[in-house]
Amino acid sequence: MTIVVLRIGHRPTRDMRITTHVGMTARALGADGMFLAADDHKIKESIDKVVRRWGGDFFVRIGVDWKKEIKQWKENGGMVIHLTMYGLNLPNAIAEIKGRDLMIVVGAEKVPASLYDLADLNIAVGNQPHSEVAALALVLDHLHAGNELRKDFTGGERKIIPARSGKHVEPTNLDVERV
Ligand code: SAM
Repeated sequence: MTIVVLRIGHRPTRDMRITTHVGMTARALGADGMFLAADDHKIKESIDKVVRRWGGDFFVRIGVDWKKEIKQWKENGGMVIHLTMYGLNLPNAIAEIKGRDLMIVVGAEKVPASLYDLADLNIAVGNQPHSEVAALALVLDHLHAGNELRKDFTGGERKIIPARSGKHVEPTNLDVERV
């Protein structure tokens, strides 16, 4: 099962922080990559830096044509879900999306009307307005049934040693080699 996030409607100055959070949440909670329908190098740089430091193989592709990506994903047999408060509520749709190769589309400002029809399924995380970061996190958690939190991220420069109190971070071989 491959899961990618497609972020559309990103406005470079205004959405910088929230789009970075979409990417970091996608990575931390078990998605494989993010497509960004805007040519914002800063977003890619900051998420790539997180991957270098903390591991895993999450990818970011910027400047994508969102309609083309959706079309291609579907042609390759994947399913496209659009997160919107107007969709089917997640508990009623989870069985239909679990185990599929998924492209999860999240908006920023008002999304183009055509997206509601282009997506295979419009999914709401509760039928009330809130946030793309919260919606994405809950969808990923439902898809992985909580197991994404146990994912091992390898290949980074640093590793967190979970600590009951204080902060414990160790350099990996990669970090030592670089110094
Ligand atoms: N006002 C915008 C509109 O009408 O399209 C939505 C803005 S909202 C802050 C940004 C994104 O959060 C939406 O495009 C959607 O992907 C996501 N979102 C917000 N509430 C949601 C919900 N209840 N369920 C699923 N996604 C939601």
